Amino acid sequence: MDRQQEYVLRAIEERDIRFIRLWFTDVLGILKSVAVAPAELESAFAEGIGFDGSAIEGLARVYEADMLAKPDPSTFQVLPWRGDQRGTARIFCDILTPDGEPAAADPRNVLKRALSEAADAGFTFYTHPEVEFYLFHTPESETGPLVPIDTAGYFDHVARGTGHDFRRATITLLESMGISVEYSHHEAGPGQNEIDLRYADALSTADNIMTFRTVVKEVALEQGIMATFMPKPLAGHPGSGMHTHLSLFEGDTNAFHEPGAQYELSPVARAFIAGLLRHSAEITAVTNQYVNSYKRLWGGGEAPSYVCWGHNNRSALIRVPMYKPGKGQSARVEYRGIDSSTNPYLAFAVLLAAGLKGVREGYELPDEAEDNVWDLSDAERRALGIAPLPGNLEQAITVMESSELVAETLGESVFEYFLRNKRQEWAEYRAQVTPYEVSRFLRAL
Ligand code: GLU
Ligand code: MG
Ligand code: MG
Repeated sequence: MDRQQEYVLRAIEERDIRFIRLWFTDVLGILKSVAVAPAELESAFAEGIGFDGSAIEGLARVYEADMLAKPDPSTFQVLPWRGDQRGTARIFCDILTPDGEPAAADPRNVLKRALSEAADAGFTFYTHPEVEFYLFHTPESETGPLVPIDTAGYFDHVARGTGHDFRRATITLLESMGISVEYSHHEAGPGQNEIDLRYADALSTADNIMTFRTVVKEVALEQGIMATFMPKPLAGHPGSGMHTHLSLFEGDTNAFHEPGAQYELSPVARAFIAGLLRHSAEITAVTNQYVNSYKRLWGGGEAPSYVCWGHNNRSALIRVPMYKPGKGQSARVEYRGIDSSTNPYLAFAVLLAAGLKGVREGYELPDEAEDNVWDLSDAERRALGIAPLPGNLEQAITVMESSELVAETLGESVFEYFLRNKRQEWAEYRAQVTPYEVSRFLRAL
């Protein structure tokens, strides 16, 4: 047993932990959890805990159903909302095949593979997500009207607002689990909030996002309201993005920073942005994975619809944020396409792969977009070489299908499963007759 494992076993004893939830995600990024007794943990560390992988979306085919969940001791945390006594803790797991190999279809393993490719090139990948979500009064039924908990807007201070209590409770829980929060505020939509997690290596951030979603749902239940990470719950209001700030470090040095260069962006940063731009359409099915994601991308509310970059240009897909002089270590690029429903492990893997490809192959960075690209005409955008992002899930799948980059990064089994799952989602969606159509056509035609 290594020292981290020993530390976890000791902490469990000292803190009177009775249940340990082993956490992992399916291919769509839905959290899975199996609780084990403390006595089982030692053997879980040694060999993993067996479970039926074929029951988990995308994890295994029926004839190779046995899988092992092996806890990663560095992710041990007590779940504060389960109380101090006879408590519950969680540990993220890596999924292994019965012969102990990392399972190709485990999203955490997909990200680890991408990170180790970056490490081979000398880079560590850091991310920092701005997670947006909506708070609603709990609807009476699935189709009941959605009533936001307030009518406030961007940065509004709501006196005695539920939103304040909500954010405070959420942040307190997150911090007690070792997840630092940088900012939190009311977002532009009614009942819409944003919480920004501090930057960390991408694997920790992906784990933190999974924890974050769980904490937000728990706090909402506690307060008798409903939280949702659905990308576009209200047609007339902004969607929920998960803008993510990305940077590469070489040792302790931010590889994106070069004093004196334009916006202090190093050649590595420029090529990384160029890689993100060139491959953005191919990775969109992963960063924006549901039919509803495209309602956000094409429904206004400051979501990006066109492939371009800019310095502090909020209409651009990629924004280079301003940072204070002397703060070169915080040089980063903000990818604004991704939404709050994504599988963070897969999304970070494809974002990294796209950027790194640009760096490896020395892609040239196109000119930045200086205008508000939503205000330009199609012809003007074409003249500037600014292409649209995929318009719906089907278009996104079609581009992804022929992407070598995405196939290599996700690995064959995740790639195939993902495409099959999304084609099915599109087929189901396409067959719907929506309330919009009924109100628009029933009497008119
Ligand atoms: N809610 C917007 C989006 O969907 C982003 C607003 C902002 O700039 O934070 O991307
Ligand atoms: Mg925001
Ligand atoms: Mg942002």
